Amino acid sequence: MKKQHADNSHNSADADKDAIVDTVLSHTPFNVDSSCPSIFWASGDGPYENARKAISNIDLSPSKNKRVLLKPNVGRNVAPETGITTHPQVVAAAIDAFRQSGADVAVGESPITGVTTLEAFETSGIAAVAKERNCLLIDMDVRQYVTVKIPDGIAIKSLKVCSQIKDYDIIVSIPVMKTHMHTGVTLSVKNMKGCLWRRTKVELHMLPQLSGHEDKPLDIAIADMSSVLRPHLSIIDGTIGMEGLGPSAGEPKALGVVLVGVDAFATDSLACGIMGISAHDVPHLRMGAERGYGVINLDSISACPQNWKDIKSPFAPPPDELSIEFAGFTILDQQSCSACQSTLLMFLRKYGKQLRDTMSDDEDIIIAIGKGHEEVPGGTLCVGNCTAMHKKCGVFLSGCPPVASEILAMFDL
Ligand code: SF4
Repeated sequence: MKKQHADNSHNSADADKDAIVDTVLSHTPFNVDSSCPSIFWASGDGPYENARKAISNIDLSPSKNKRVLLKPNVGRNVAPETGITTHPQVVAAAIDAFRQSGADVAVGESPITGVTTLEAFETSGIAAVAKERNCLLIDMDVRQYVTVKIPDGIAIKSLKVCSQIKDYDIIVSIPVMKTHMHTGVTLSVKNMKGCLWRRTKVELHMLPQLSGHEDKPLDIAIADMSSVLRPHLSIIDGTIGMEGLGPSAGEPKALGVVLVGVDAFATDSLACGIMGISAHDVPHLRMGAERGYGVINLDSISACPQNWKDIKSPFAPPPDELSIEFAGFTILDQQSCSACQSTLLMFLRKYGKQLRDTMSDDEDIIIAIGKGHEEVPGGTLCVGNCTAMHKKCGVFLSGCPPVASEILAMFDL
């Protein structure tokens, strides 16, 4: 039977609703020495060739006749050269490699709120490579979630997860190599957050500080998530990464490397090393390794080839404190999360000057984001659902996260 190119089926929505599964992911079927995992990397060629070369070191035969879900990072509706989304040729290489091993392959994503999955696949170039190969693309938000219990969870005890995660035998995380303003980096472990259903992703950003824990609740929650949502294989795309204000407001960084590993923590750790970051300084990786979910100590990881330091290229770190500053605007930020911050930052970079130039008075435009405001000045532009309680004080734009183009639409430009 011919495969569909895109799956938007609602058919099994009700059947899946409130289904509870204790454990989502089984143990990886791929060979790994868990005390000294091997991580393979390739550079020097194009993204497709680098990815094929790195993947060729893994015996994919256990995927024969299995259903394989490729989970790239296509969380935003942007082109591949931005360094925000996974390069389409890396996804193409993964499709081809698993197909040649006899697997039934699909590509799935659940993007951030406000982004339409299939549009993001189109813009990223992934829809085109999938179409060429007649490979199924899945909007994982269409069907209902399954609830996954997290027995070892500290910050969270369950998650609402896209149901494809239980339907597929093998899950492959294919992130972009990026710094992240709230979690240090976002690589193959963190990329699995894109398997959380619809806007439930945002809930991890809104957890209260846990007493007795110095780590941020978001980091603890990601480590909790990785106890049940760990990929069977990781392919990290460092073709064009992102440094500084990642995951979406930083600067693209071309590295031209692809890494592949069975141990997601070890693969992330070697990627961190190439980025000039110690995985021990990335809280969710440190905590996950302490709990035994994977290896991050580079002395206990076998990099193949060994000379990875030759391609090491330190990434500019995200700032310790994010302060959004833009001439002519006063930003009131109280306990917002990264989705609101990056939306506002992108809006100001793209439209801020244009907006400022059209305003006749010299007063700053005041914008509030986040849930922590007791009051805001009259006339404030309150952006995002967290500011809804102040909407009578000024102008209110709903959304969680809000959409940048809708901020612009509130002004008569
Ligand atoms: S409205 Fe903004 S700050 Fe509030 S939860 Fe949503 S994205 Fe985060």
